[in-house]
Amino acid sequence: MSVVLPGSLVNGQPATLGVMGGGQLGRMFVHAAQAMGYYTAVLDPDPASPAGRVSHHHIQTDYLDEQGLAQLMQRCAAITTEFENVPAPALFTLGAHRFVAPASDAVAIAQDRAAEKAHFVKCGVPVAPHAVIETEAQLAAVVDDLLPGILKTARMGYDGKGQVRVKTRAELVAAWTDLKQVPCVLEKMLPLKDECSVIVARSGQGEMVHFPVQRNLHCGGILAVTEVNPGVIAPALAQQAVAATKAIAEGLQYVGVLCVEFFVLEGGQLVVNEIAPRPHNSGHYTLDACDQSQFDLQVRTLAGLPLTQPRQHSPAIMLNLLGDLWGTDGSSPAWDKVLALPGTHLHLYGKLSARPGRKMGHLNITGATPEAVRATALQACALLGIEPF
Ligand code: ADP
Ligand code: MG
Repeated sequence: MSVVLPGSLVNGQPATLGVMGGGQLGRMFVHAAQAMGYYTAVLDPDPASPAGRVSHHHIQTDYLDEQGLAQLMQRCAAITTEFENVPAPALFTLGAHRFVAPASDAVAIAQDRAAEKAHFVKCGVPVAPHAVIETEAQLAAVVDDLLPGILKTARMGYDGKGQVRVKTRAELVAAWTDLKQVPCVLEKMLPLKDECSVIVARSGQGEMVHFPVQRNLHCGGILAVTEVNPGVIAPALAQQAVAATKAIAEGLQYVGVLCVEFFVLEGGQLVVNEIAPRPHNSGHYTLDACDQSQFDLQVRTLAGLPLTQPRQHSPAIMLNLLGDLWGTDGSSPAWDKVLALPGTHLHLYGKLSARPGRKMGHLNITGATPEAVRATALQACALLGIEPF
């Protein structure tokens, strides 16, 4: 790959970075790229997509549309993805002509829970006991030890969608029928003490840098809160999580930003849950609490620029802002009151209509100490009507 210098001309055009997908992650990538002087192009069919609205170019076609892909390649020196279900064949097509990071084969593994689990096993990182269910015979062969468990569709699941909790064999059979017998993974239900995640960036030359380990709280299968400060996850466990994340990225020969989600079990063991081949909701605090954000690193890996280890300069808490916080008449939460609290940083994604469960934005809170950050976060929760944590 060649270096795409910010603000340069490439074949007579302003150096342009492209992104497949126009959601909030694409929007924050576009903001980071533009801040450094790049032009941007977004491919997303939705005319109102959060990233499309702020990009220099918005190609409004389906992800597999040949003309759309050709236009994106014509505009861009290098292309990334923000949406893990962008069809891997589209990335493969782009990759034949342009530098694409992450590569289609890494994205294809992350898109399939069965392939993902096989990759974890290959890398020697501990995974939840599980079984792949693609046939009636595999369903019948499930061992009792996997129950109670969670049946998850192998593909297209996110934010707890495509998952059914099952206690008995009869419930398992019924759940697979409800899921239309698509390929699934059954995971043993584990006793969770904590959840955490690690974000790494890996360059085309194989250099890796990482952010500190993030502690995540979910509500109804959706990330609600991320808290990051030294000690929020015990140092030995944090070290293990970083090492496992690097092994997973190395094993994929990954280029770009990768997030690995972990479970911490009641007994203290670390188990890898899943990966996201892109920046992650649990890394949004990096926008305000670190000297480089996860989106800055996505830009650097894509443009072939050097990576330097990011530094967190403030303890942080991120609160996800879901559509539930908006009035039924569409009225906005009292941002004026929230922004009166010290160290609050509001990020809204420009989505015009709020729906329950829809990610509308996030609030980052920074401060001098973890205690101060937590106190402010709880005040913000009270103002917004978010459950305290
Ligand atoms: P998604 O792709 O929707 O994020 P996950 O596999 O991460 O799916 O599951 C969503 C959440 O469900 C997890 O963050 C965790 O809280 C819970 N969960 C998933 N798998 C298990 C498991 N095997 N044992 C206990 N809880 C689980
Ligand atoms: Mg998850």
